[in-house]
Amino acid sequence: MSNTDFALAVEDLTVSFDGFKAIDALTLYIDKNELRVIIGPNGAGKTTLLDLICGKTKASGGSIKFKNTELTALAEFQRVRLGIGRKFQTPSIYENLSVFQNLEVSYPKGRSVFGALGFKCTEEVKARVQVVAEEIHLADKLDTEAGLLSHGQKQWLEIGMLLMQDPELLLLDEPIAGMSAREREMTAELLQRICTNRAVIVIEHDMDFVKQIAHKVTVMHQGKILAEGSMDKVQNDPKVIDVYLGH
Ligand code: ADP
Repeated sequence: MSNTDFALAVEDLTVSFDGFKAIDALTLYIDKNELRVIIGPNGAGKTTLLDLICGKTKASGGSIKFKNTELTALAEFQRVRLGIGRKFQTPSIYENLSVFQNLEVSYPKGRSVFGALGFKCTEEVKARVQVVAEEIHLADKLDTEAGLLSHGQKQWLEIGMLLMQDPELLLLDEPIAGMSAREREMTAELLQRICTNRAVIVIEHDMDFVKQIAHKVTVMHQGKILAEGSMDKVQNDPKVIDVYLGH
């Protein structure tokens, strides 16, 4: 497979903080329509890797290619425009706005004439909001103030705000943190559905959830990849048991 067949090709990626290599010559390929889960002990470099991909942190060396474009010199907003969406652990939504308005303001500016809040919403934006609201299980909550949603629903809303931009790569940091069992189930189903037309990378600690959603698992340790493959393969890997799963 050539590198152009991948959604994302990370090669020899390195970042140092005061001489400490948080990511150390890491190479990783993500297929189109793949749902990859990254696991590993605290401090392994999982969040830093997502920060490097979305541009929050600048690489010290190596390459990150997305749709044949080298990302390392690009600013965060340019990576968003190319189709990369990042969700952090804590939902950042507009609590005082309705679910509808949160989704509406997330529609990419420039694609809609009346994109800004307070203007008449175009039919195109309304249609997109409806599609996304159904995807995130919030179609019956469009008029609800976002601050009144459950914690899980807030997480879905933030995923929905990213989906409004129709990203080709979604980066999610612990998407089920603080969710009820039912909400976890619904999130698993949501993630499986949204990766049918994009690649998704998820950082997760809950092994039952990982088993449920992962196409492939990458285990990180000390800024490097310790193991990679199916959940069955990595959970039986003695190195992985030693540094992570055995605890
Ligand atoms: P994980 O997400 O796997 O828990 P992180 O990516 O948060 O790990 O951190 C990896 C290592 O890099 C940790 O030792 C952390 O302290 C260090 N680190 C991350 N970001 C910074 C930073 N901005 N400055 C200094 N050290 C950092």
